[in-house]
Amino acid sequence: MELELTGRVALITGAGSGIGLAAARALLAEGARVVGADLDPTALGELGDDGHVVPVLADMSDPGSADALARTAMERFGRIDVLFNNAGAAATRDGFLDTTDEQWHRTLELNLLGYVRAARAVIPHMLAQGRGTLLHNASEAGRMPNPRLPDYSVSKAGVRMLSKVLSREFTGRGIRSNVISPGFIRTPIYDRPGGLADSLATEFNLDREAALRRYVEINGIPAGRLGLAEEVAALVVLLASDRTAFVTGAEFAIEGGVTPTV
Ligand code: NAD
Repeated sequence: MELELTGRVALITGAGSGIGLAAARALLAEGARVVGADLDPTALGELGDDGHVVPVLADMSDPGSADALARTAMERFGRIDVLFNNAGAAATRDGFLDTTDEQWHRTLELNLLGYVRAARAVIPHMLAQGRGTLLHNASEAGRMPNPRLPDYSVSKAGVRMLSKVLSREFTGRGIRSNVISPGFIRTPIYDRPGGLADSLATEFNLDREAALRRYVEINGIPAGRLGLAEEVAALVVLLASDRTAFVTGAEFAIEGGVTPTV
């Protein structure tokens, strides 16, 4: 299927690693141009030197970053067709009573307000163009409450409603808004030194791969494995394309069947 993404301009936050980096790679492969922000955009910059990818060093929890990013995209390419709100972080907590105001602020500032500000920065340009697509990376944690991730779960539930609100207000003016909700995707969250794979290896007293297999069993993932960033990126590309022009205010789980509820 021809996705007609050639020449489209996509703005991606958290584009330096994992799902954001895979989405950048997939969109570039479809002929799109990518402006990507990250605390460390090095890997994004290595995706190409043909001028189609613009790595931006930015902290998306900084209130000024979103406007600067949109400005960069407009200066470089003169339009913004797609926003993939993706920069997020998860920290495990001992429980609700031990999660401090400061931790709540930090999580909401990046995972929710970061998305709000990026949407606010790009929508005026999309309105002027008469078209655009917003795509927000939430999480299955935003549907399935997790006592070890109270602030993260709430931030991701907020993302789901943010997308609905944006879809309601802007679809009639040519801007779609959708959510993807991944679960258990093997990104550097697992694989970076000191990441989840290392913690699980210590916890289960197994090597990393065996520990991850055990983790898959414990979590009852029907697909029997973790997902891949490339699999999430395929969904991002499809939703970024006008082939899905009638899809808005919708949410797509990509989690190997792990969520037991409708
Ligand atoms: P990752 O750590 O590989 O990538 C996240 C990227 O965001 C990193 O490059 C990081 O530097 C960047 N980032 C973090 N804080 C930032 C900030 N303040 N400003 C700019 N960039 C920042 O993780 P990932 O698994 O690819 O996660 C991407 C998104 O997917 C997150 O929103 C996460 O909540 C969501 N998600 C991931 C999973 C999973 O299993 N991996 C599941 C559900 C949801």
